[in-house]
Amino acid sequence: MIVKEDCLFCKIVAGTISSKKVYEDDQMLAFHDITPAAPVHVLLIPKKHIDSMNEVTQEDLPVIAHIHGVAIQLAKELGINESGYRLINNCGPDSGQAVQHLHYHLLGGANLGALTG
Ligand code: IMP
Repeated sequence: MIVKEDCLFCKIVAGTISSKKVYEDDQMLAFHDITPAAPVHVLLIPKKHIDSMNEVTQEDLPVIAHIHGVAIQLAKELGINESGYRLINNCGPDSGQAVQHLHYHLLGGANLGALTG
């Protein structure tokens, strides 16, 4: 497993920083965002360290697909599948990506508004 020592989310995967987990398997982890931007705000990450979407390779595509499948499952479990939700990846400076470990935000539980004004 590729791990980056100074990476916050690698430390969450390793358990050296605690998180409120909602799902875990050998490939990925999902946990509540520490600063929720919506009533439901879960982060889904691969356990393998990947800096961002830009570094995703062909061999990573199965785990990306798996994360999407788990997002659909969690949306149901967290009760936001009917009302609707957003699955977001921030990649690079213009997106505001703050943590350099690939992650998806699952947001819901309220009207999230339009993406563009
Ligand atoms: P980004 O802006 O897409 O990189 O999102 C990073 C997210 O990580 C933000 O929504 C933060 O609130 C969240 N975050 C930062 N540190 C922690 C933590 O220790 N636990 C859970 N979420 C965190």
